[in-house]
Amino acid sequence: MAGTQQPEVNIGLVGHVDHGKTTLVQALSGSWTDQHSEEMKRGISIRLGYADATFRHCDGLEEPECYTVEEECPDGSESEPLRTVSFVDAPGHETLMATMLSGASLMDGAVLVVSASESVPQPQTEEHLMALDIIGIDNIVIAQNKVDLVDPETARDNYEQIQEFVEGTVAEDAPVVPVSAGQEVNLDLLIQAIEEEIPTPDRDPDDDPRMHVARSFDINKPGTTHENLSGGVLGGSLIHGELEEGDALEIKPGREVEEGGQSEYVSIETTIRSLQAGGESVDSATPGGLLGVGTGLDPSFTKGDALAGQLAGPPGSLPPTWQGFTMEVDLLDRVVGAESGETVDEISTGEPLMMTVGTATTVGAVTSAREGECEVNLKRPVAAEPGAKIAINRRIGARWRLIGLGTLVE
Ligand code: GDP
Ligand code: MG
Repeated sequence: MAGTQQPEVNIGLVGHVDHGKTTLVQALSGSWTDQHSEEMKRGISIRLGYADATFRHCDGLEEPECYTVEEECPDGSESEPLRTVSFVDAPGHETLMATMLSGASLMDGAVLVVSASESVPQPQTEEHLMALDIIGIDNIVIAQNKVDLVDPETARDNYEQIQEFVEGTVAEDAPVVPVSAGQEVNLDLLIQAIEEEIPTPDRDPDDDPRMHVARSFDINKPGTTHENLSGGVLGGSLIHGELEEGDALEIKPGREVEEGGQSEYVSIETTIRSLQAGGESVDSATPGGLLGVGTGLDPSFTKGDALAGQLAGPPGSLPPTWQGFTMEVDLLDRVVGAESGETVDEISTGEPLMMTVGTATTVGAVTSAREGECEVNLKRPVAAEPGAKIAINRRIGARWRLIGLGTLVE
């Protein structure tokens, strides 16, 4: 396949439901569902909504016309690949902020999609921008979508509403690019903006590899005989470093073992048997995009996302496992996404919280709460560095709502 490259940067697609995130990813990546992809890739992509796009350049054309995703330029010559990006199409409805935030922990930048045909902001537009603000993702491009649906005056008004809305936020200086994902209008301008605003992060290739596991599964068909069983598969992203086939891997917190009525988590060690990146089998993998790691693990360990939320890396290199921790807490002024703009009450001892740390989501009970700090006991432990950021959600009505940001102390 021409121009196949491993994706080098992860870009989140965020914004209100129906504003056109999925349509935009489709327009940029051409083949949203690759019919020939293996089960491994398909399985991961569907749940996390990753899609790769190779941005290309046509020599001899001016900006922005020179930017394209087509392999053929208007004059019939072949376009030059610039880089491959991986889009993470964050779930827009049901506003499970935890999913959004866990996806966001893997994002190097974001495209905020805002429909030109609705007033600004819609609830999830606000919610997602606040999440970007909290996680500190400041390489942002705003796609003002569906401009085909409105007259020029409405488009201008909407544009001004967007500018006003992002003032004072992490997206304050983000370019706003009017596009129609549906009619494929101005996609070249959008690609140019992404090329300029969302650079591939500088990464030290000598860092220890660290993978955030977002999914794990058993790829064997039911009834596969023992000698034909494939080992357990991990799906996720490398944050830094490089993984190679044959490398030893530790996975933390690992799995739960019962001993004398007590249960505890012990880390798992295995070997990398195969690697998949950008939908291809590779010998080594670098950060960016979605990675599939075939291991020597008993597939029953990885079945049904059993290892989702865990960390993987060379044995001995991973941060501690926490069954509980103290966190510094920064509460938001208002509950995110709530229509009425409810204020956030202090956290109280005994209340349940849902916390997202990296790709891990875990429920915990508050064992002690003081102003600006609380201690929690977790149902399922997490592996994380001290200083890790934690999205804190409280149950309000029938839903978990983002109420603040924590920092893991110890
Ligand atoms: P998502 O929920 O943000 O992923 O939104 P979708 O991509 O699923 O789009 C929601 C609806 O808007 C679909 O019916 C799309 O066909 C439509 N849509 C998306 N982009 C455009 C656009 O640029 N113009 C028009 N007219 N419709 C669009
Ligand atoms: Mg969608």
